[in-house]
Amino acid sequence: MKLLMHTCCAPCSVYCIESLRKEGIEPISFWYNPNIHPYIEYKTRRDTLIEYSKMEQFELIIEEEYGLKEFCKNVVKDLENRCVNYCYRVRLEKTVKYAKEHGYDAFTTTLFVSPYQKHEELKKLCEELSQKYEIEFLYRDFRVGFREGQAKAREMGLYMQKYCGCIFSEESSNYDHIISEQKVRLFENKITERKIRLDWKIPNLELKPYKNGNKEQINFIYNLKKEVYQKYVKTIYGEWNEEIQKKLFDKFMKENSKNIELIYIKDELVRIL
Ligand code: SF4
Repeated sequence: MKLLMHTCCAPCSVYCIESLRKEGIEPISFWYNPNIHPYIEYKTRRDTLIEYSKMEQFELIIEEEYGLKEFCKNVVKDLENRCVNYCYRVRLEKTVKYAKEHGYDAFTTTLFVSPYQKHEELKKLCEELSQKYEIEFLYRDFRVGFREGQAKAREMGLYMQKYCGCIFSEESSNYDHIISEQKVRLFENKITERKIRLDWKIPNLELKPYKNGNKEQINFIYNLKKEVYQKYVKTIYGEWNEEIQKKLFDKFMKENSKNIELIYIKDELVRIL
């Protein structure tokens, strides 16, 4: 069987090629991915696939197109459904047309290996294109070998991308992740801030992330200053008790607040102002 396999990247093709070869099928790899941005990422993934094709000795056809503007123009009105409505279609239709025009028996895609793709929609689209262009669609659920393929790719030292391809997926995988982590941290700090304000009777306490210093040093400074505060209370009022602590804390913070500066909470340094 002469099979044209649309190929999104080298790591995803590892398991697909191995398993097809086990079936006695030698796929011909077809690179057409105008959905990968920015250009440096596009080039890195393409060149990695070229390298990998030499290592594994399979035939590779490169259909060159870096399509940032065209891609954005076509997805901007409906970003939510961009994968199914545009991205899969534009890549697979090109693959199917190429296969038809060059005498292939069938087509498939490495996108079927990824558990992160919309597998069923992808399958439906391939079936539709198969009918439209009258060419066989070879379906395999490669997802069973996703982890295995990725592990082998890593062992071989292939470049492993961190996001699906388009700038919108880059945003989801990097920026959104950072923002949600920041929100969690902010929330945790708010709880801590409230606890300190209530327990220590510091009405206008505000916590801010503190970037320098190491944990041990900071804890040491904090503990030392707390002792200084306790000593201060004892020196003036004799016995240490909660009542006196409550009354004096505001006074102490006003006079000596610069001495109690740093605390460490949930792996993050915070400053008491
Ligand atoms: S997330 Fe991936 S499949 Fe979806 S539009 Fe972006 S590059 Fe294409």
